[in-house]
Amino acid sequence: MTPSPDRPTIGVLALQGDVREHLAALTAAGANATSVRRPAELAAVDGIVLPGGESTTMDKLLHAFGLFEPLRERLAAGLPAYGSCAGMILLADRVQGATSDQGTLGGIDMTVRRNAFGRQVDSFEQDLLAPALGAGEDVAPLRAVFIRAPWVEQVGDGVEVLARTARRGSAAGEATAEGKIVAVRHGRLLATSFHPEIGGETRVHRLFVEMVRDALLPTQQQLTS
Ligand code: GLN
Repeated sequence: MTPSPDRPTIGVLALQGDVREHLAALTAAGANATSVRRPAELAAVDGIVLPGGESTTMDKLLHAFGLFEPLRERLAAGLPAYGSCAGMILLADRVQGATSDQGTLGGIDMTVRRNAFGRQVDSFEQDLLAPALGAGEDVAPLRAVFIRAPWVEQVGDGVEVLARTARRGSAAGEATAEGKIVAVRHGRLLATSFHPEIGGETRVHRLFVEMVRDALLPTQQQLTS
């Protein structure tokens, strides 16, 4: 299929996790959304979303479905990707709290900590101020749903921090989770600890669709040669 920068074809890795919600958010954000389970389907997309779920299971399924190496190769060749929650873990170069046999695709120069927010607070929602994601005080903040989420412990030089947690302020001790990095961008790779696709938030997906469109534009060199 000829790539169309106006309506790029974006896949959602459909081995596990909340695939349907991402397909809906991508469609609302202007993409031609499609699920990816086979290498041939991967070869046909202009960008890919790695959904939430369980990163250890997804790692195993990526190998079982013969997708791990093809996906790693496409990412290395510049395929834009957006990872949410477990997807963020898959895109991290380094993981704290990984199981002994857990691997990642990597690509984002960051260390993520799995299940970082602790067991008592498995899931919570928070309004985030994130100007880079079109969310601020003068516009609606970003409604972020966290489910056994990771946070980002450390980022390398090329990584842009897009959002941090605000003060949660209910139970004692929770303030330690304030200011944690929960959204990052590194070149054509985007990742969030939270699930914007739950609850109808589409601004993160809109940014990702823009990133995919940019990647499809001919480079200056191709235009002038
Ligand atoms: N805790 C999960 C993991 O480590 C991620 C949870 C999620 O994706 N909602 O993979």
